[in-house]
Amino acid sequence: QPIIRLEHISKVYGSGNTEVRALSDVNLTVEAGEYCSIMGPSGSGKSTAMNVIGCLDRPTSGSYYLDGTDVAGLDDTELAHVRNRKIGFVFQQFHLLPQLTAIENVMLPMVYAGVPVRERQERAAEALTRVGLENRMNNRPNQLSGGQQQRVAIARAIVNRPVLLLADEPTGALDSHTTQEVMNIFQELNASGITVVMVTHEPEVARLTRRVVWFRDGQVIHANMAPSDIAQV
Ligand code: ADP
Ligand code: ADP
Repeated sequence: QPIIRLEHISKVYGSGNTEVRALSDVNLTVEAGEYCSIMGPSGSGKSTAMNVIGCLDRPTSGSYYLDGTDVAGLDDTELAHVRNRKIGFVFQQFHLLPQLTAIENVMLPMVYAGVPVRERQERAAEALTRVGLENRMNNRPNQLSGGQQQRVAIARAIVNRPVLLLADEPTGALDSHTTQEVMNIFQELNASGITVVMVTHEPEVARLTRRVVWFRDGQVIHANMAPSDIAQV
C-alpha cells in the first residue's frame, strides 16, 4: 500500500470574496521507499499540500490515506497521534530549541511519544550518529554550523522511526557545500527505507531526488517527472 494517497483533494481558504482555492482536485500517490521533490512557483499550493500530507491541516474535500489510514476519519487527538508516530518533519529554519544541547533536542519527540527515559538517550545518540554528529551531541545549536544544525533537526525527525520524512525547503538556508552534505543524509535515509518528500525551489536539489511532482495553480501538472527533465519545464 502507498505511504501517501491523495484523492481529489481540494483546500479552500476563506469564503465569499476572500475565497482562495489553494488546492484543486489533487491526486497524488507516493509509494513506500520513494524519494520525491515537490516543485512549482510560489503560491502554487506546495505548502498547503505539505500541510495536508503532514496531517497539520485538513483538506476541504477529498480523501487522504496515510500508510493505509483514512485520515479524514480521525479526530484531532488521533490525527496528532498518527502524525507523531508516522511522520518526521524538517524545516528550512531548523527550529531547534537554543537552550538545549543537540542530544536534548533529539530526545524531545521521544518525551512526547512516551519512550522510557533510559531508551531516549540511546536512541537519540543512535540518530545523531546516523547523521554524522556523534562528536557534537553535547553542543548547543549556536555552537554548530548551519549544516550541523540541520543534521540535528534531521536526527530529531527520524528518532521516532517515521515511515515518512517531510522536508520543507530543507536546504534553503544552507550554502552549496552544506546542501550537498544534507542531501547525502536524505539519500542515505531513503536508501535505508524511509520515504522522503521534500519541497524545494532549487533544481540542483530536486535533481538529487528520484521523482519530481510539479504544482501549478493548486494542481499537480506533472506527477512523475524524471529529475533530469526539470530544465525543460
Ligand atoms: P533509473 O532511475 O536508474 O533508470 P529505475 O527507475 O529502474 O532506474 O530504478 C532504479 C532503482 O531505484 C530501483 O531499485 C527502484 O526501486 C528505485 N527507484 C525508482 N524510482 C524511485 C523513486 N521515485 N524513489 C526511490 N527509489 C526509486
Ligand atoms: P506555495 O507553497 O506553493 O507557495 P501555498 O500553499 O503557500 O503555495 O499557497 C497556495 C495559495 O493559497 C496561495 O494563493 C496562498 O496565498 C494561499 N494561502 C496559503 N495559506 C493560506 C491561508 N492560511 N489563508 C489564506 N490563503 C492562504
